[in-house]
Amino acid sequence: MTAAETLRHARRVVVKVGSSLVVDDQSKGPALSWLTGLAEDIALLRAGNRSVIVVSSGAVALGRGRLGLERNARLDEKQAAAAVGQSLLMQAWESALASRDMTPAQVLLTRDDTERRRRWLNARATLEALLKLGVVPVVNENDTVATEEIRYGDNDRLAARTAQLARADLLILLSDVDGLYTADPRRDPDARHIDRIEALTPEILAMAGGANAQASVGTGGMTTKLEAARIARSAGCATLIVSGLVPRPLFAASQGARATLITAPASPLQAYKAWIAGSLEPAGLLEVDAGAAEALAGGRSLLASGVRRIEGRFDRGDSVRVLIDGTAVGVGLAAYSADEMALILGRHSGEIEAIVGYKGPGVAIHRDDLVLTP
Ligand code: GLU
Repeated sequence: MTAAETLRHARRVVVKVGSSLVVDDQSKGPALSWLTGLAEDIALLRAGNRSVIVVSSGAVALGRGRLGLERNARLDEKQAAAAVGQSLLMQAWESALASRDMTPAQVLLTRDDTERRRRWLNARATLEALLKLGVVPVVNENDTVATEEIRYGDNDRLAARTAQLARADLLILLSDVDGLYTADPRRDPDARHIDRIEALTPEILAMAGGANAQASVGTGGMTTKLEAARIARSAGCATLIVSGLVPRPLFAASQGARATLITAPASPLQAYKAWIAGSLEPAGLLEVDAGAAEALAGGRSLLASGVRRIEGRFDRGDSVRVLIDGTAVGVGLAAYSADEMALILGRHSGEIEAIVGYKGPGVAIHRDDLVLTP
C-alpha cells in the first residue's frame, strides 16, 4: 500500500502536531487558521469512519509567549509556562474543532501512565470512552509533574505510546520536512527521498542521525521520529512522516503528497496479543469449566460464571494462565484483581457490580485480552 492508501484504510489514527506548527512565529499565539485547516482534515477522516486522536505540543511555547519568558528559562519556569500555555492550547483546539462541530478533550499523560499497568488500563479506558462519545482527544505530556527523568522526552515518543495505548493502526507525524532523505536535501543535490521503509535497519537509522539530524527544528529531530516509528511498529501501527507546512496536511497526504511511510508487519491486535503471550510472566491462574472452554474456543470473553478456582496474587491487568482440568489452554489479562475474582467466581455478570461495588468490565478476561494456546 502507498502512503495515501494506508491513510485511506486506517481505522484509528493518531496525529502528532509539533509546537512549530501550532504556534505562530510572529504573534507567538496559536496558528488558528492552520489549526482550522487541520480540523477540516480531521472532520474528513472521521466522516470516513476513522477515529482520530491528536497529540499536540505547544503548551510551553504559548505559555512562554504569554508570560514573556526567555527560551532558556529554568525547568520550573518552563513547567509554569506549560501550565499557562496548556489552557491557551486547549482554547485554540476548542475553537479550531468547533468550526466543524467537534469537541476536544484534554488528556494529559506522563510516562508512568503508559508504563504502570493499572494507570495504563485506566488511560486506555478513558480514551476508548472519549472516542465512543465522538470526542477528539487532544493529548499532551503532563508537564507540571513530568521532570526530565520521568518525561517521555518529546511528543514524538508520547504520540507513539498513545498510538500503542489506543491500538491505533496509523501514526502521523506532522513535521517540517516531508520525510526521510538519504542525505540532507538542502545541501546535497543527489539526496533521494525515501517513500517507504519496511525495516528500521542500521543504514536507515544512520541516515536519520547523520545528514538529516538538522532537517527538523523542535525537540524531535528525525532520529526521534524513527524512534517513535519503532515503538509504533512494534505495536502493529504504521507511521507516516509528512510535512505539516501546508494548509491541509492530511488532505494533501491522502492525495499523494510526498511522505515517508514506515510499515508495520502485524496488526495492532496481533501485536498486542503477541505481547500478552510473550512478554508477561503470569501472576496467577484461573481454572475454568467446560462450558467456558467452549465459549473461549468460539472467540468469546471469559465470564466470571465459568471460573471455578483461582490461584495467585494478581492485580487488574496482570496476566493469568487459563486452565481446564489442570491443563493450560491460554493466557490473558485479568479484568479484576485476585481479591475481587475470588468474590465473583461462579457468579453471573449482572451480579458483579453489586459485589465489587463499581461498574467494571463485567467479564473475567475480555476476549481482546486473551490468547489461546494453539
Ligand atoms: N509538552 C511540550 C509542550 O506542549 C512539548 C514537548 C515536545 O514537543 O516534544 O510544549
